[in-house]
Amino acid sequence: MALVVQKFGGTSVGSVERIQAVAQRVQQTVAAGHQVAVVVSAMGKTTDGLVKLANEISESPSRREMDMLLSTGEQVSIALLTMALHSLGQAAISLTGAQVGIVTEADHSRARILDIRTERLQRHLDEGKVVVVAGFQGVSPSSDFEITTLGRGGSDTSAVALAAALGASKCEIYTDVPGILTTDPRLVPEAQLMAAITCDEMLELASLGAKVLHPRAVEIARNYGVPLVVRSSWTDEPGTYVEAPARHPKSLDGLELVHPVDAIEFDTDQAKVALLRIPDRPGVAARLFGEMAAQRLNVDLIIQSIHEGNTNDIAFTVVRANLPQAEAVAAAIAPVLRGNIADSSQAEIFVDQRVAKVSIVGAGMIGRPGVAARMFSTLAAAGVNIQMISTSEVKVSCTVQIDQCDRAINALCQAFQVTCSPLKSEPPSPVATSMPDVRGAVLDLKQVQVAMRQVPDLPGMAAQIFERLATAGVSVDMIIQSQRCRLVGGQPTRDIAFTVAQAEAAQAQSVVASAAAELGCGAVAVNRAIAKVSVVGLGMINRPGVAARMFAALAQQQINIQMIATSEIKISCLVSEADGLKALKAVHGAFQLNGATEMAASA
Ligand code: ASP
Ligand code: MG
Repeated sequence: MALVVQKFGGTSVGSVERIQAVAQRVQQTVAAGHQVAVVVSAMGKTTDGLVKLANEISESPSRREMDMLLSTGEQVSIALLTMALHSLGQAAISLTGAQVGIVTEADHSRARILDIRTERLQRHLDEGKVVVVAGFQGVSPSSDFEITTLGRGGSDTSAVALAAALGASKCEIYTDVPGILTTDPRLVPEAQLMAAITCDEMLELASLGAKVLHPRAVEIARNYGVPLVVRSSWTDEPGTYVEAPARHPKSLDGLELVHPVDAIEFDTDQAKVALLRIPDRPGVAARLFGEMAAQRLNVDLIIQSIHEGNTNDIAFTVVRANLPQAEAVAAAIAPVLRGNIADSSQAEIFVDQRVAKVSIVGAGMIGRPGVAARMFSTLAAAGVNIQMISTSEVKVSCTVQIDQCDRAINALCQAFQVTCSPLKSEPPSPVATSMPDVRGAVLDLKQVQVAMRQVPDLPGMAAQIFERLATAGVSVDMIIQSQRCRLVGGQPTRDIAFTVAQAEAAQAQSVVASAAAELGCGAVAVNRAIAKVSVVGLGMINRPGVAARMFAALAQQQINIQMIATSEIKISCLVSEADGLKALKAVHGAFQLNGATEMAASA
């Protein structure tokens, strides 16, 4: 007899009929010989309705009272579902978060789970009852028993945390979509259902998947090895399996990471190649990385920063053993790129024989401003100069001089209170070999690009800029520091560009403008007409040519790439807003995510 946790979202319990259908599904699971703990959300749009009510009474309702209000939604659905189970003759009991012993931080409206005391729940299960738990809510650790909520969409997190605490054999998230799709089907109707995805990929696809599955839930599944499935409430289809690494026994103490970062990774076996002043036109990145792929050279980090005039800089890293070949490819291609006289570019190549890549990793940084800034300021305080910066959803990577690597790691481990581990550049495991290069693609149209020119190339500059943004509550997304160094009054300077959410653009602009004045930087420019296209896949690790294929797909559509940033399992390109949808479709198709091959085969 296995223990299963099933979570039903708002639409799945949105009416009397649906609650009855859920009760039946739960009863079937019991009939199949399982113990079942059920977690439910508030019915339909109840939570939105309560938020609206509160806003009609007060412009800034207290967060404590908001929790008091919003937690009632789930209390309604647990009682109704339990009654429905009783009507079917199924023994069941409903419990609030506090009754279950879901202990959280006292941080109202965004509390993280600290511990789950499972004794009572386990007792009811052992009595043969289905336990129906209110999602999204918990109780503070103090004797005041304050009611807290986990933040919107938090029921997923309640469910996975419960599964981790109970050592459940799996956690099923029932929702109103068939599972996780390769991209947003409203943008690309050909989007396909994924049979499986790993937790790491899911986290990098947060902007795609967040509506379906709360990123904090994915992080708990990853950290505790909870087998997780997302599937439809309306059918018996298997849905999408979200693969977690094998389960390892771990204390439930501080269950949800209170730390925004859960690991520091480093790789000291890298070399850097930078091509400066190459023409800014479609097809250049495709050409360069296509040639690398043709030579079977695996490229790790790739960044292309903002440019001036009609030239670009692209820098990338390779494992050190591949440097001579990579340099040769770059050298051979530079004159070809220069071929067009109208570009009047003077491509130059720089190599750095040995660089270290240092990364901070953790889902806790999603939507939490200041984590990247903290990394930069920590490095600055340790006297480490940052060469390249590249960020993704759950990772910030910097390259630094090799002899500063140890210092960088020690400082970061202390600052974030985590241990570090070397990134293995082992040959890919058989599992990784069978993985698709790319699992899914996303388009983000809600960002704007902010560019700061001529930032003095001194330790601490990035730290100062991003700390100010964090203090102002601005969440920074993609950060890229340029390669090109310009002397301004004898001081080497570099440009830094990043993206922020549209809603925070004005705020970001004013913060950055005053920072630029104080720190002696050049002009600040804001570009609203941009789109970010990303592909994510664990299969791209150690596999040459994935970036080249993405760039080629864009080039084929004559789409110019304005910025590039990568992490091990993600490649993001900034393109003009007008090209956004076309770019997503091109990339989605280029990686066979349209299911075209299957359709052709069955036709
Ligand atoms: N009812 C809460 C919300 O709408 C929690 C959830 O549904 O996950 O945010
Ligand atoms: Mg949800």
